[in-house]
Amino acid sequence: MSKSHFETDAVRTRIEKTEFLEHTSPLYLTSSFVFEDAEDMRASFAEEKERNIYSRFTNPNTSEFVDKICKMEGAESGYAFATGMAAVFSTFAALLNSGDHIVAARSVFGSTHTLFTKFLPKWNINTSYFRVDETEKIESLIQPDTKILFAETPTNPAVDILDLELLGEIAKKHNLILVIDNCFATPYLQNPIAFGADLVIHSATKLIDGQGRVLGGITVGKKDLIREIYLFSRNTGPSLSPFNAWILSKSLETLAVRVDRHCENALKVAEFLENHPRVNWVKYPFLRSHPQYEIAKKQMKAGGSIVAFEVKGGVEAGRKFLNSIKMCSLSANLGDTRTIVTHPASTTHSKLSEEDRLQVSITDGLVRVSVGLENVADVIADLDQALSS
Ligand SMILES: *Cc1c(COP(=O)(O)O)cnc(C)c1O
Repeated sequence: MSKSHFETDAVRTRIEKTEFLEHTSPLYLTSSFVFEDAEDMRASFAEEKERNIYSRFTNPNTSEFVDKICKMEGAESGYAFATGMAAVFSTFAALLNSGDHIVAARSVFGSTHTLFTKFLPKWNINTSYFRVDETEKIESLIQPDTKILFAETPTNPAVDILDLELLGEIAKKHNLILVIDNCFATPYLQNPIAFGADLVIHSATKLIDGQGRVLGGITVGKKDLIREIYLFSRNTGPSLSPFNAWILSKSLETLAVRVDRHCENALKVAEFLENHPRVNWVKYPFLRSHPQYEIAKKQMKAGGSIVAFEVKGGVEAGRKFLNSIKMCSLSANLGDTRTIVTHPASTTHSKLSEEDRLQVSITDGLVRVSVGLENVADVIADLDQALSS
């Protein structure tokens, strides 16, 4: 694998040899591809040659997107999906058999949690959880049938940090497949494969598109594992559409500059909140006060776009804060150009008991801010007036 510079790969990786030498990769809106003759068709299906057959399997636009992410993550191979959840589900479904076991961090994306607790158990695949601040307990959860170690870092919504190097060592020692959801960090800020991850998953819907337009997902990593995921996916159909792949490939060209500014703005918002009298605490990976600041510094290039903080006064204060927001959006997305504010205790995590919420670091007054690309002074002014009202 040639390791050229991230920004150059992002801009210059493209579909080679196109008919009209377009400067931007063309969009191949076609469901299938034609064969020269019976022998070409036979050899293509036998995978004796690498070529596109049907867009559920591969398409030049989805392959371009996969190539870019593989270069960015230092991965051998990958497969692109219609959504981040399609990537998560297909990865587990392709690699696990009935009776296999997962060890996972308790703080995972809501739908991933539902997959683990409600759907995978239907196929007798069960999960044991560790709290992000109890990584010393991970090894005691490993059973003879454990096959996958799974985590996200930074976590949603509380931006806790897990030590990727430690997870890599544990996975290696116990012969587990380490799968990391790298969505919050993006391939620009953090590359889990360098710390021992076997597979890396992204929801491309978030910062990879970064402009709130399309859904997408991807899994990249070891060739033999991706091969299984590919075979599962080409037969079950969760693949990314060529149009969305084309959008996402263009989005990647600006990922580095966008994420740099997201991080710069988020750090300023975090520093502002840390000194605010109506705020109990602030969590941002690159604030010195973050409990895992040293680990964040070791594995991330910058702190990311998400800031978590607690408004004084519990659930009511959290709701009141949201109702007083004027410019920022109240929305379920994150990693958008527009700053988005959410209150997990009264929305995404309202069905959990207070005790269960605390297991995943969600206190009643916790607010999550996905800091966007507006002028940061305007974002801070909006948060300030909402806190003071
Ligand atoms: C949003 C998200 C997902 C799911 O991605 P979709 O594209 O919405 O399906 C998975 N993991 C994390 C950490 C996310 O933030």
